[in-house]
Amino acid sequence: MIAFILTFQRAYRPVIVSTFCSRSMLDMVQAEKALKPRIYGNIPAVFLRKDGKFEIKLQITGGMLTPQQMQRVGEVASRYGTQVHLTVRQEVSIMGVPEEHLDKALAELKDAGLRPGSAGMVFRNVVSCLGDTYCFKAAAETITLAREIGNRFTGEKTPGPLKVGIGGCPFPCTRPQFNEIGLMGRVRPEIDLEKCTGCGKCVEVCKVAATKIVDGKAVIDYNKCVMCGRCVVNCPGAARYSAEKGYIIFVGGRGSWPPHEGWTLQDFVPREEIMPMIERILQVYREGAKPGMRMREFINSIGFEEFKRRVLG
Ligand code: SF4
Ligand code: SF4
Ligand code: SF4
Repeated sequence: MIAFILTFQRAYRPVIVSTFCSRSMLDMVQAEKALKPRIYGNIPAVFLRKDGKFEIKLQITGGMLTPQQMQRVGEVASRYGTQVHLTVRQEVSIMGVPEEHLDKALAELKDAGLRPGSAGMVFRNVVSCLGDTYCFKAAAETITLAREIGNRFTGEKTPGPLKVGIGGCPFPCTRPQFNEIGLMGRVRPEIDLEKCTGCGKCVEVCKVAATKIVDGKAVIDYNKCVMCGRCVVNCPGAARYSAEKGYIIFVGGRGSWPPHEGWTLQDFVPREEIMPMIERILQVYREGAKPGMRMREFINSIGFEEFKRRVLG
């Protein structure tokens, strides 16, 4: 009997609603659906869309897929879905999957190492640029770091949605400043004047005019230098070298309205200290924030200096 009522309610609810409800009531029903989309099988990243079918949003850490995974996404989308959507946070979503095909689709994706990603009040998919694995302009490694962070934290419950962005240099394609936690690679350049030939290549590649040639040797204006490391990579005689390497950690940024740049928690954090630092940020956030509180609101509620003190000691 209960099963019959539930089936009837699910099948005829749209008809009942459209027949007996006013326009404003219909709008309220739509708004409720938009705010709390029906999720499938307790998997937050598999949820009902306006077309009456499901979206499967996959966790693609740092936006990197193997060709075989890409192929599997295509196969599953062709068999059960309608389109593939690339989200702004580097996830891949298979759209238009009917409910009765979700189990099969999820099993086939799992065989290729693909799983539904993150949604709601959790540590979300980690966004990353290509970093020094592929990019000539990079000051730091990003892909392995993104995977390490994603494997460790993505999907964990947090007081509010927690987004992470990683950029390999201070001209970051991924806008890490506008995430709850942002990481941006930096290199502090120095010059070995004995080796400097005064060739001027560093002047040519510097985007902020922070270096010039004086009396046949290069000099750096550290008031202008943004520590991108491009002069280090491009110095033909290896006269420029990296005196320090690491990441700026931003906290409390957000991209949605109103957008806010995060605070700089610490600069030149070495690679090996990133994971413990994220652990401490999460601990402080979880201990102090009320449910639903975004990191920015939490930091504002206690003040940035106090947040910094709690994280860094
Ligand atoms: S953020 Fe910098 S390092 Fe990363 S891809 Fe863009 S230019 Fe390259
Ligand atoms: S690129 Fe290197 S060698 Fe050439 S001027 Fe600059 S520091 Fe000197
Ligand atoms: S590290 Fe500094 S001096 Fe070198 S290219 Fe970047 S901004 Fe210019």
